[in-house]
Amino acid sequence: MSSSSSQSRHILTAPAWPYANGPRHIGHVSGFALPCDMFSRYQRMAGNQVLMVSGTDEHGTPIQVQADSEGVSPRELADRYNRVIAGDLQALGMSYDLFTRTTTRNHYAVVQEIFKGLYDNGYIFPKTTLGAISPSTGRTLPDRYIEGTCPICGYDGARGDQCDNCGNQLDPVDLINPRSRVNGEVPRFVETEHFMLDLPAFTDALGDYLRAKQGEWRPNVLKFSLNLLEDLQPRAISRDLDWGVPVPLEGWRDQPNKRLYVWFDAVVGYFSASVEWARRSGDPDAWRAWWQDPQALSYYFMGKDNIVFHSEIWPAMLLGYNGRGDKGGEPGSLGALNLPTEVVSSEFLTMEGRKFSSSRQVVIYVRDFLERYDVDALRYYIAVAGPENQDTDFTWQHFRERNNNELVAQWGNLVNRSLNMAAKEYGAIPEAGELTDADRALLERSRAAFDRVGGELGRSRFKNAVTEAFDVVREANGYLSAQEPWKTEDKTRKGTILHVALQVVDDAKTLLTPFLPKSSDKVHTMLGGEGVWAAMPEIREVDEEGGPSYPVVTGDYAVERARWEHRPIRPGTPLAKPKPLFAKLDASIVDEELARLEES
Ligand SMILES: [Zn+2]
Repeated sequence: MSSSSSQSRHILTAPAWPYANGPRHIGHVSGFALPCDMFSRYQRMAGNQVLMVSGTDEHGTPIQVQADSEGVSPRELADRYNRVIAGDLQALGMSYDLFTRTTTRNHYAVVQEIFKGLYDNGYIFPKTTLGAISPSTGRTLPDRYIEGTCPICGYDGARGDQCDNCGNQLDPVDLINPRSRVNGEVPRFVETEHFMLDLPAFTDALGDYLRAKQGEWRPNVLKFSLNLLEDLQPRAISRDLDWGVPVPLEGWRDQPNKRLYVWFDAVVGYFSASVEWARRSGDPDAWRAWWQDPQALSYYFMGKDNIVFHSEIWPAMLLGYNGRGDKGGEPGSLGALNLPTEVVSSEFLTMEGRKFSSSRQVVIYVRDFLERYDVDALRYYIAVAGPENQDTDFTWQHFRERNNNELVAQWGNLVNRSLNMAAKEYGAIPEAGELTDADRALLERSRAAFDRVGGELGRSRFKNAVTEAFDVVREANGYLSAQEPWKTEDKTRKGTILHVALQVVDDAKTLLTPFLPKSSDKVHTMLGGEGVWAAMPEIREVDEEGGPSYPVVTGDYAVERARWEHRPIRPGTPLAKPKPLFAKLDASIVDEELARLEES
């Protein structure tokens, strides 16, 4: 086995937290989700102890604004989209150990613990700023109820905490011509206190951390992160807001209008979800193997708009909790926590030349996609043509071509014709006779692919990895065409050719499992394999000691038989006539999908 020389390690895999304000589209999941699942499935097959955790990000102004406009509570809105998103991610085959949410009591407690650790070490300080109150009621006017003109881009509908046009974070006092969304009055600004995270105190520690990643991280991610160090500013971590995690300090805890800023609580989610997973596993300390063992590794996956939170802010928070910034300090009560090993960021996917946009309906939601097409067709497309290193454009024409020319005509065809012939002529996997040079060359090529594909997957180079695996498939098809077993009268030779082809089918099924878990599982069964080859996630309803129930995505991946290794097939294993692995897509789907885009 190629990985037998390296010992089993604890690997945390952390896909970004989708925001619970709507269903996910394929642009989203091409960045944060599918690459993380491919990486995680490979690492489990290679014998490592993987913990994959995430959940829905449910606090913040946008959810409150949307809830207000629908006349529901933010909790009701979050409940709705938490369930929708969990369903989408489960349908994609995302092998989460735990996909939870940020509105759990566990998450609140862990966020407050991180806050306290940072505060006790002096990395959080209060600052007097100007906050808005309503002149007519005298009460605090939360950020979302203030709008005005963005001082940065001039957009007229900017909100008190953020401009949706240019994406910059704002303070209500920055807005030009601020007014209340409730009654149009001009808010009065009075002095109020908020908390700031002292990011400049981590400039040196973050610099040491990031410079050590030279040659390991994708160059664009590292360059972007190092550039941010040039000008780190203290960052507000509380807001005038009533939906979020309370500030855990005397005099603050019970203030209904002060909450931690959503970004502060969301990045803690990776850790709080690990703690929740441990408690649900029956060993409340089980998270420590992934967060405190110096040999443990952690990989965070996201779209490029989220790099700053993962390469700068979350590492700064961890450094501060550990007492490792300019002001020193002691680790918090849980002990020092590991920083990210790698921040793996994808670029953006566009759709038919346009930016994905839910509001302008340039979009294909995961659910709609999977109602019409095979999940493995999407996973394959994202692996081979996704936005790994540059922005890329999804087109229905390309999707159809990849599906038909590669999945159907190469992989599906290899599986189908080799199994079909063997089932028809032998009813079982035939014995191999004496091997020719051509037989040996193909078998060696296939075995050598484990190291090559595994090496690429271990470095999150999905396009190279899936292309290498498909090269084996193409060569096996070329081998069959050259050997022409259907013309061979010699039964021993024919059996040998089919044996060699089926061995490569078995190898390729393993090599393709991280990308195509569902179809690899089918091939495993077709080849007479027993049990579960690639486990699929499921949705379970859980609660917190009698609290409201909520769905989590989880799974029992220990039942998998998949190991990252060549496994000799067993002659005599009965074979049945195979069913097609993939469906060919008719040319009409392109026009149909484009018409759907135009309609909307
Ligand atoms: Zn703006």
